[in-house]
Amino acid sequence: MNRFVYADNAATTPVSSSVYDAMQPWLRDFYGNPSSLYRTGNQARRAMQHARSQVAEALHAASPEEIIFTGGGSQADNLAISGFVKGASAKGRKHIVTSRIEHHAVLYTCEALEKEGFPVTYLNVDSQGHVDLEQLKAVVSDETALVTIMAANNEIGTVQDITAIAEIAHAHGAVFHTDAVQAIGHIPIDVQAMGIDMLSLSAHKFHGPKGIGALYCRKGIALKPLVYGGGQEKGLCSGTENVAGMVGLGQAIADATGDNLAPKMDYVRKLTQRLVNGILKIPYTHYTGDPENRLPGTASFVFEAVEGEGLILYLDNAGICGSTGSACSTGSLDPSHVLMAIGLPHEIAHGSLRLTLSEQNTEEDVDYLIETVTKVVGTLRAMSPVWVDGKPNLVAAHELTNH
Ligand SMILES: *Cc1c(COP(=O)(O)O)cnc(C)c1O
Repeated sequence: MNRFVYADNAATTPVSSSVYDAMQPWLRDFYGNPSSLYRTGNQARRAMQHARSQVAEALHAASPEEIIFTGGGSQADNLAISGFVKGASAKGRKHIVTSRIEHHAVLYTCEALEKEGFPVTYLNVDSQGHVDLEQLKAVVSDETALVTIMAANNEIGTVQDITAIAEIAHAHGAVFHTDAVQAIGHIPIDVQAMGIDMLSLSAHKFHGPKGIGALYCRKGIALKPLVYGGGQEKGLCSGTENVAGMVGLGQAIADATGDNLAPKMDYVRKLTQRLVNGILKIPYTHYTGDPENRLPGTASFVFEAVEGEGLILYLDNAGICGSTGSACSTGSLDPSHVLMAIGLPHEIAHGSLRLTLSEQNTEEDVDYLIETVTKVVGTLRAMSPVWVDGKPNLVAAHELTNH
C-alpha cells in the first residue's frame, strides 16, 4: 500500500481546519453584500475589517487602511507594478528595475510595460540566486520609478536581502515593491523595519484559500486601478468582496505569523535539512539555491542524467507530489528561467526536482521521500542513454538536448 506525501507546498497548500471553520459561516449563513446597509451587510463589512486588521498586524503595517484585498498574488503583483508606474506617485518616472528570477506575474507585467514604453532592467543573479546588489546600485537612477524584487524565490527558495535592496531604491527616490508570496507565513517580514513600500501576498501559499491575496501599499502611494467598477478596495480592485476568502486569509495569516512563526520555522527547517542530507547522498546530485539563506521548507535539486518529467510521474505513482522546472513542465523547449538565470547548463537543469515541506509533514514523510527519490533516480538512470557505466555521459547529454 502506498503512502501519500504532499511535498509541493510552494505550488499551493491545503486549507487548514481553523481556516476552513472560520470561512464556513461566511459562505452559507452570512452571505450579505458588505456594501448593503442592512444588518447582514454590516456583519460582512465588520468581518472584512477584522480580516484587514489581521493582515496589517501580521505585516507590521501602520494601518489596516494600507491593505488592499485582491484576487491573489498575481493580481497584487499586477496592481503594484502597473498601478504604480501608471499612477500619480511615479511623478513621470518610467524606469523599472526587477530581476531575472521573478515569478511570471512580475516578469510578464514588466514585459508588457516594456512594450508600452517603460524601460525595464532585469538584474542578474549569482549561482545561488542572489540579485547583484552592485548592478542594482549601478542601474538605479533618478529616472527609476520602481524597484520590484521578490523576497524569496518560489523555485529554489533563496531569500533576498530585502532591507539592503529597499535602501538602494530609496537612495534614488524610487519606490520598492516585493513579491513576498513565498515569504509571508514562512519567514519574518516587517514592512516598516525593512523599508518595504508595497508587498504582494497570497493566502493559498500559507494554508488559506485560493483566489484571495492582498497588496500592502504604504499610505500616500497613489495607484492606477486594476479593475474598474463599484469602487471596492479604494476603487483599485472593484467587485463584490470575497468575504469568506478575506476571512480565510485573515485566519491563515494570523495562524502563520506572530508567535506561531518561530517554532514552525524551526520544525520545518529541521525536517527539510534531514531531507536535503538524505537526497544529497544520491551520486551526481546537486543542491540548487542558497543552502543556508533559504525558505525553511524548500529543498531543490538537480540530478544528472535524469529527466524531470519522468521523475515527477514515477514519484506520483509512489504517492509523492513534487515539482520540476525542466522543459516540458515549463511549456517550452527551455528549462525554467530561474534555473537558467543561476547558470545551470541545459542538460543538468532538465533533471530538477523541488520538494517543499510544511508543518503538516513528518519525519516518516521525509524518510519515505528520501527512499523513494533514491529508488526512482536509480530506475530512471538505468533506462537513460546518457547514463553510462554508472556515471553521466555529458557529451551524450549535450547531444540529446541540442537535437
Ligand atoms: C504563487 C506565486 C504567485 C502567484 O500567486 P497566485 O495567488 O497564485 O496568483 C506570485 N509570486 C510567487 C513568488 C508565487 O509563488
